[in-house]
Amino acid sequence: MSEVDKVLVVGGGIGGLCAAIALRREGVPVDLVEIKSDWTVYGVGIIQQSNVVREMARLGVLDRYLDAAYSFEDVGIYDLEGEPLARIPGQRLAGPQYPANVGISRLALHKVLSSTAIELGAQIRLGLSVEAFEQDEDGVDVSFTDGSQGRYALMVGADGVYSKIRTLLFGDTYRPRFTGQAVWRYNFPRDPSIDHLASYMGPGGNAGLVPLSDNLMYMFSTSHEPENPWYPPEQLAELMRDRISNIGGLVGRLREQITDSSQVVYKPMEVVFVDEPWFKGRVLLIGDAAHATTPHLGQGAGMAIEDALVLSMELTADGSMEQKLQRFMNRRFERCKFISEKSVLAGDREMARDQSFDRIGLTKQMLKLTAEPI
Ligand SMILES: Cc1cc2nc3c(=O)[nH]c(=O)nc-3n(C[C@H](O)[C@H](O)[C@H](O)COP(=O)(O)OP(=O)(O)OC[C@H]3O[C@@H](n4cnc5c(N)ncnc54)[C@H](O)[C@@H]3O)c2cc1C
Repeated sequence: MSEVDKVLVVGGGIGGLCAAIALRREGVPVDLVEIKSDWTVYGVGIIQQSNVVREMARLGVLDRYLDAAYSFEDVGIYDLEGEPLARIPGQRLAGPQYPANVGISRLALHKVLSSTAIELGAQIRLGLSVEAFEQDEDGVDVSFTDGSQGRYALMVGADGVYSKIRTLLFGDTYRPRFTGQAVWRYNFPRDPSIDHLASYMGPGGNAGLVPLSDNLMYMFSTSHEPENPWYPPEQLAELMRDRISNIGGLVGRLREQITDSSQVVYKPMEVVFVDEPWFKGRVLLIGDAAHATTPHLGQGAGMAIEDALVLSMELTADGSMEQKLQRFMNRRFERCKFISEKSVLAGDREMARDQSFDRIGLTKQMLKLTAEPI
């Protein structure tokens, strides 16, 4: 194992925090800077599939993570009337005693990851970003936005879809692109029937119900929003009700309960993929900064978490920094490219109302790929 000096992680989201945890577990000193001074995350949830459960075990946080989450096995596919179409069995990749899949509130996930990173000794500074950097063969000199400076063996840009580090590395070559769709989300008390991910699919829409705890679940729905409109915040509840008006079953029955616009989380889908190595010298991008995609396969955060673990493995193995980062790329590029491209494809086919598109087949392909070791 090689000696690694201090690493700077830019961005305290899912990918950046997992990188900090994985690196600290290997004994690597880590500074992390997060631009938000209040470090908030929005209050709906996230689906995490079997590969993520497996990697949470490798990060050493599985028990506290599962305590904060709702565990489930299968994914149920329903038509837009709520009639069952298929059941996709879960894969227990973390071991037979652990669940296949998890729904977790973003807030709960953030608490688990941030408290672990702090306990492991990552030095976290909030309300701070990188102003500029210069690098030589041995390190990166970083100027922070508060005027302070630091020198690092590696700088990791985990600063999301609008990554400043990506712009500092690649200029305007890679800019987020609006795909034409948006996602609407809303929390509800958990219905007893939602003890699994229930996904409603049809040519005219896509929605789902995800359990987050014994008492909580959230609904998501995707919609075609040409021109990426801006909506007045006070109209969001009415607009979300409108977008799911063609969906029956439990989604349809819950529709009239969407009344509080301040609780609707509306998000246009924006994607970016860095189609060349995600590093230059000693600066590397991970997570959404390198490969933000749509949520159609529920794997964006999964890929960020896997990036973090592979980075820690390669960084602490032998070789020069270039060899380590090249090995990281060899393990990550095609896997992330598949997830990125196929997620976008699923959204495109949805917008085209393509009834022949085999969405269930694609989901099975994704599960096969993500079950493979990272
Ligand atoms: C609607 C929607 C639903 C989704 N659902 C799922 C799902 O169910 N399952 C799943 O696996 N994935 C899902 N994703 C994808 C997932 O949210 C992302 O892939 C994941 O959050 C990426 O993590 P990240 O750490 O790379 O980026 P982020 O989570 O965006 O974190 C980036 C962090 O960097 C900080 N930052 C930004 N700029 C700077 C700067 N200049 N300096 C310092 N800090 C900075 C930000 O404040 C933030 O804390 C979904 C995405 C969307 C849009």
